[in-house]
Amino acid sequence: MASRSVHPKVIRNLRRLNSSAPSITVVPPLINPGRPEKVAKRPLQPTPTPSPPTTTADSASTSTNSSDFQLELDDTKRLFSSVSTPKLIKSASMLKISSYDRAADFGLWIMTSGLMNNPMVRKLVLAATEHTFYSHFCAGKDLEKASRTVEKLWDSGLGAMLDYGLEHATDNESCDRNLQEFLRTINSTKSVDSCQVSFVVVKITAICPPSLLRRVSDLLRWEQKDKSLHLPWKLKNLPVFSESSPLYHTMTRPPPLSREEEHDLELAYERLDKICKNSIEANKPLLIDAEDTAIQPAIDYFSYSAAIKYTGKEDDPLIFNTIQAYLKDAKERLVIAKKAADKMGVPVGFKLVRGAYMSSEKQFAASLGVKSPIHDDIQKTHNCFDDCAEFLLEEVARGSGSVVLATHNIESGRKAASKAISLGLERNNPYFQFAQLYGMAEVLSFSLRNEGFRVSKYLPFGPVEQIMPYLLRRAEENRGLLAASSIDRALMKKELLRRLTSPGS
Ligand SMILES: Cc1cc2nc3c(=O)[nH]c(=O)nc-3n(C[C@H](O)[C@H](O)[C@H](O)COP(=O)(O)OP(=O)(O)OC[C@H]3O[C@@H](n4cnc5c(N)ncnc54)[C@H](O)[C@@H]3O)c2cc1C
Repeated sequence: MASRSVHPKVIRNLRRLNSSAPSITVVPPLINPGRPEKVAKRPLQPTPTPSPPTTTADSASTSTNSSDFQLELDDTKRLFSSVSTPKLIKSASMLKISSYDRAADFGLWIMTSGLMNNPMVRKLVLAATEHTFYSHFCAGKDLEKASRTVEKLWDSGLGAMLDYGLEHATDNESCDRNLQEFLRTINSTKSVDSCQVSFVVVKITAICPPSLLRRVSDLLRWEQKDKSLHLPWKLKNLPVFSESSPLYHTMTRPPPLSREEEHDLELAYERLDKICKNSIEANKPLLIDAEDTAIQPAIDYFSYSAAIKYTGKEDDPLIFNTIQAYLKDAKERLVIAKKAADKMGVPVGFKLVRGAYMSSEKQFAASLGVKSPIHDDIQKTHNCFDDCAEFLLEEVARGSGSVVLATHNIESGRKAASKAISLGLERNNPYFQFAQLYGMAEVLSFSLRNEGFRVSKYLPFGPVEQIMPYLLRRAEENRGLLAASSIDRALMKKELLRRLTSPGS
C-alpha cells in the first residue's frame, strides 16, 4: 500500500512546537551508515570572523543556508524499519499515556503521597512502572541489561550515551558510592565494541555535594564582581561568565571556604580526576550534565579545569560541557570559553541543549525581583540554540572542538544538519553528532540516522526506584496533546496502520 501523507493536524502541531515546520519530502534511503574511525590529525584552519555573540534577549538568529536540506518524515516504513511491531505498539502506547495530563498528575501524586510508605503499595507501583514507563525510557536495572540495550540500539544504527541514573549526592559517602558507579560504567565500555557507547554521562552533583557547588559558585560569582578576591583552591580554568552573565544569586560577599569545605572540594577534585583517568584508559569521552544557574558556575568550573588537565586520544576533547541555550548569556559564554580554550590549546567539546529548569529559574528570579536569565520568549531560545549550533559546527569545520547537538526539536535538527552540509562536513564526521533521550524523539533520531548523520540516545539505567525522579521529569515533558512526542505518536500510528493493512510489505 502506498504510504499515506502525515495528517494535517500533526503538521499544525509541529509548526507550533517548532519555530517553523520543516517541509516533508522524500529522499533516497541511506540506512545504518558505516562509521569510519577518527582521522589521525585534524588540520586546523584559521579562525573565521566570529559570529556575533547572542548576548541579550533581543538577539536574532544569524542562521544561514538552513533552508535547503529536508528531513524525510513521510516514509514511515523506512523511518521505523528497525523497530518491531510489538515495540512500536508499546512505544506508541507509552507516549500516548504520557500525553494525558491526568496520567502525569497521578504519577506525580502517587510518588509524593504517603501511600508510597506502605510496602505493598510501593512494590505494586514500582512493578507497574518497571513494565511500562521504565522499560520504555530506561535501558535496564544494571550494566548487563543496559549493555543489551546498547547492542540493540547499535543494530538499529544508533550510538548510546550511558547514564547511570544518579540524583544529587548529599555527603562525601554518597559521593564516593556514586564515584564507584561512574567508574564501573566507564570500565564496562571497555568490553563492548568501542563505537557502540559514544559517551559516558557524568553528573558533577553526584560527586560533589550541591551545597558545596553552591558555595563555589557564589565565590566564583563574587570573584567576577571583584577581581581582587583571592580563591586559593582555584584551579587553572576557562572563563565561566561573560559580561552579561547575571550575578544576582550572590548579593553579598560570601565568606571564604572553610577548611572542611576546602577538604571536601579537594575530595571532589580527586573523584573527577579518577573519572577522567579511567575514561582516558577506556578511550571514552565524558558528557557533563548541566543543572540550574545557582550551581552551574561550579559545574562549568569543574568541567573546564578537567578539560585543561586531561585530553582524549589524539588530542580530541575528553570533556564535553553542557551549554543551555535558554539562558540569555549562553552564546556569549560559549564563545568566550571556546576562544580561551583555543588560545590555551585546550581541546574542549560541548553538548548543546535548550535547558530543563525553566520554571524554577523564572520563579527564583521573580522572587528576587530581578530579570529572568531565560530568554523572554521561546523563539529567542530557538534562535539561540540554532546560533550556538552554527558557531560550534563552524568550529568543527575549521578543525577545532567537537559538539553534541542534544535536541528533540525537528527544526533545530534539520537546520544543524543543513549547516553541516553547507560547511562541507562529512555526515558521519566524528566531531559532531545528534542526541535524543532514549524512548523520545524517535522520528528525529531515525530520520537523521537515515540521512547518514551520527545519532546517539541518552540512555539512563539503574534500579527502578533510583530512576523515578528521571521518569517523573519525562512524564512532565510529554504531557499535553501538543507535547514534543505528538509527531512521534502520529507517525508511529501511521506506520502501525500501514503494517496492519499491508502485512508483508
Ligand atoms: C541528550 C539530551 C541531554 C540533555 N541534557 C541536559 C542537561 O544536561 N541539562 C539540561 O538542563 N537539560 C538537558 N536536556 C533537556 C533539554 O534541555 C530540554 O529540556 C529538552 O531536550 C527539550 O528541548 P528541545 O531542544 O528538545 O526542544 P523542544 O522540544 O522544542 O522544547 C522546547 C522547550 O523549551 C522550553 N523553553 C525554553 N526556553 C523557553 C522560553 N524562553 N519560553 C518558553 N519556553 C521555553 C519549553 O519548555 C519547551 O517545551 C537534555 C536533552 C537531551 C535530548
